This record gives sequence, structure tokens and C-alpha cells, in this order.
Amino acid sequence: MLGDMDHHAALAALRWQIELGADEALGEGPVDRYALEAERVAARASAAPAAVPARSTAAPEAAPAMQMADPVAEARTAAEGAGDLGALQAALAAYPHCELRRGARNLVFADGRPGARLMIVGEAPGRDEDLQGKPFVGRAGQLLDRMLAAIGLDRYADDESRAVYITNILPWRPPQNRDPKPDEIAMLQPFVERHISLAKPQVLVLMGNISCQALLGRRGITRLRGTWTQALDLPVLPMFHPAYLLRNPAMKRSAWADLLELQEKLREGPDGWH
Ligand code: URA
Repeated sequence: MLGDMDHHAALAALRWQIELGADEALGEGPVDRYALEAERVAARASAAPAAVPARSTAAPEAAPAMQMADPVAEARTAAEGAGDLGALQAALAAYPHCELRRGARNLVFADGRPGARLMIVGEAPGRDEDLQGKPFVGRAGQLLDRMLAAIGLDRYADDESRAVYITNILPWRPPQNRDPKPDEIAMLQPFVERHISLAKPQVLVLMGNISCQALLGRRGITRLRGTWTQALDLPVLPMFHPAYLLRNPAMKRSAWADLLELQEKLREGPDGWH
């Protein structure tokens, strides 16, 4: 039903929603979550007892400056306060400042085996990851699993030296899979860094430009890939993102060379990493 709208207005409204990332129907009817949130806030405010101002004979002090939230500082405090991976996931779930959470179905925290020697950091969940709540489960994830299998690795292996632990810079799917914005990366970075320190990998692989930007402060994956560098006191190998390899199969040759590098590093073990 179009209500008062004509066909053109309805089509324009639909296009606008798709642009905002509302590209799938989840229920039978629309839900205005902003209105629901406003009702919740109003109900909370009317339930709260009115504060009685204390009388004072002292000279009035200057009103304190309004406290503005600093999303990055709050993220750092929340992340550093998490003592284990479960607490970190809960801290992320409670973190209110990233708008992406509103459009996502699930928080995508991690998959694989914590404690694995190798940790992979990707960019952000796509549609399949958002649906399943796990990183790298769509087409790019399936290619990643085949790439790992080619050098004897498996995200679910029992043995830590063959297992892999996987996460992303962003735990929520950006609308239309757009690139993360710098402020989104900045506010989620403390969580990623804490994630790495709690998972305790021995080697990091950064898949694609976004994770290199966040953890190395550099972009340009074509130049960065295949060369070992260092971040958070760990050896780091930047690699092409599997989604890029799906679009550019000719680059699989370089990715294979990088996988062999990675295999070699994992074989040597930490004693060989000087
Ligand atoms: N691409 C990523 O970077 N991460 C995912 O989880 C899926 C696709």
C-alpha cells in the first residue's frame, strides 16, 4: 500500500532506504526504532524520582562544562577493563557510540580457536557474517578457508599450531558493505588491540587495507603485502583480502607466495623470529 504517495515518491523512498542500508525485510511491518527508543527514554525519565535541589548558602559556583562523550577514550577504558575474551565481547556489545550497531543484525566478534598461533584480522562483516554472527563465512571466508587449508591450517583445529583465530576491525556490518569511516575505525581500534592481547597470537595476518590502516597506520596493500612488519610487539604479515582475490584472480599467485611465507614463519616458531 502506498498511502498518500504516488509511484515515483514511493520508489524514491525505497531507493533512499536502500542507500541507508535497509536492503532486506526483517518483519511483516515497519518498526520505527527511533520512536521506540524515545518512548523508552521518556518512560525512564518519568519513572525517575525528581531530584530535590539542596539549599546552599555558599556563593553559586560556575556551572560545570557539559561533559561530551569521547568515544575513543570510552572505548579504551571499556576495552582495557575487559579481563578475558568474554568480557571484551560483552564490553563491545554494551558500547553505545558506533552507529553501525543500529543497522546490524549481529555483533560479529570472532571465530576459530582463541590461543591459536595465528590470528587473522579482516575488515568488517558482510551480509553472511552479519546473518550468522561469525567472521569470514561468506564467499571470501570460504576462499580464506581454502587458502589456510593449502598450508595445513584450519580455524577449528585442536592443535594450536594449526589452528587460526579470526576477527575483524569492525564487529558490525556497514550499510551496503561501504568502507568504514575513520571515526569508526578510531573508536573500534582499542577493542581490536585488546582483542589481540587477550587472544595472545604469535603471528598476525592483516587482510586488506582497512586492517593495515587501523593497526599499521598505513594503506597501500599492493606495496605492503608479503613483507613482514611489526605491530603490537608481534610479527605482522599484510596480505591481499580474499574478497579482492575473488575479483582479481590473477593476484592469487602473490597470495600463494605470501601463504608460503606465513607457513615458513609458523614452522620456525618464536625462537627463529629475530
Ligand atoms: N570480509 C572481511 O573482512 N571480514 C569478514 O568477516 C567477511 C568479509
